[in-house]
Amino acid sequence: MKTLLWLTIAVLLFAAYFALSQRKSQPNTESESPTKKTGESNNVPVVEPVSISVSPATLIQGEPARITINGVASSSAIASLTLDDKPLPIFTDESKVSALVGIDFHKKSGSYPIALTLHDGRTIEEKFEVEQRAVATTTFDIPAQLGGNTKEAEHRLTSTLAQDTAIINAVLATTGPEKLWNGQFRLPLDGSITVTDVYGYKRQTGGVSLSHQGTDFRASEGTSVYAINSGKVAFADTLRNYGYTVIIDHGLGLMTLYMHLSENKVKKGDLVEKGDLVALSGNTGYSLGPHLHLSVRINGFSIDPIKFLELMGPE
Ligand SMILES: [Zn+2]
Repeated sequence: MKTLLWLTIAVLLFAAYFALSQRKSQPNTESESPTKKTGESNNVPVVEPVSISVSPATLIQGEPARITINGVASSSAIASLTLDDKPLPIFTDESKVSALVGIDFHKKSGSYPIALTLHDGRTIEEKFEVEQRAVATTTFDIPAQLGGNTKEAEHRLTSTLAQDTAIINAVLATTGPEKLWNGQFRLPLDGSITVTDVYGYKRQTGGVSLSHQGTDFRASEGTSVYAINSGKVAFADTLRNYGYTVIIDHGLGLMTLYMHLSENKVKKGDLVEKGDLVALSGNTGYSLGPHLHLSVRINGFSIDPIKFLELMGPE
């Protein structure tokens, strides 16, 4: 019995020794264990290449552009998009993630950066060329009923314009954070269209130089004026120089202005659909005959309405 006990102890000691020696002889595999390394894991999602395209490719002072971000499914993937370090509102339209840009009439020509940052940390930077606009200048006489070409009439014109500009700028600052427009934009008038005054030229009146910040359409007194897309009426009142005026906020910094009207058919706060009657055209304010003046503002900048309609309107 005693012998059996000693034998059992000997076997157990041998087994313990064997186990310990085996353990020592094993290589230290801790640092070589097949842990997943960044980039090799099959849990990393498939990454679509992301790119930026700009339409039109060449940009001119006072014109609009559309920036499209290719390779992202929705605007929620984007942390920021800037042009010349200024943030641009992003929207999704017809399954394209885009931003609208209005080039300031006075922006210096040259190369500006567009910078895109995604939430996954990727960044893309592109160059954006702005070209000089050829600006025509015409001389213009202040009509006799507005005082003629006198210093007093010039002063009155510039001071009332400054008042109107302050009111308009305050309205532009109220643009909503939601995109209210849908699909393509339409013309503000029905039937055949005649442009009587283009955007951007300068009218020199004595010591005053005024740049035309919209497009004038031929329209006899009382012609129906329609919202060029859906939005919210941000202003419907009268201004010293622009006469009866309706301003529609389409959201995200895009506003359209209808001026020199004979009658406003909407009031501030009204929601309008594309094609809704908003006013009747006229000859109010500083106007030399019945017409419709249409202005388009993108993030406050006045841009050429005809170029805007080419970009955002029907084919
Ligand atoms: Zn005009």
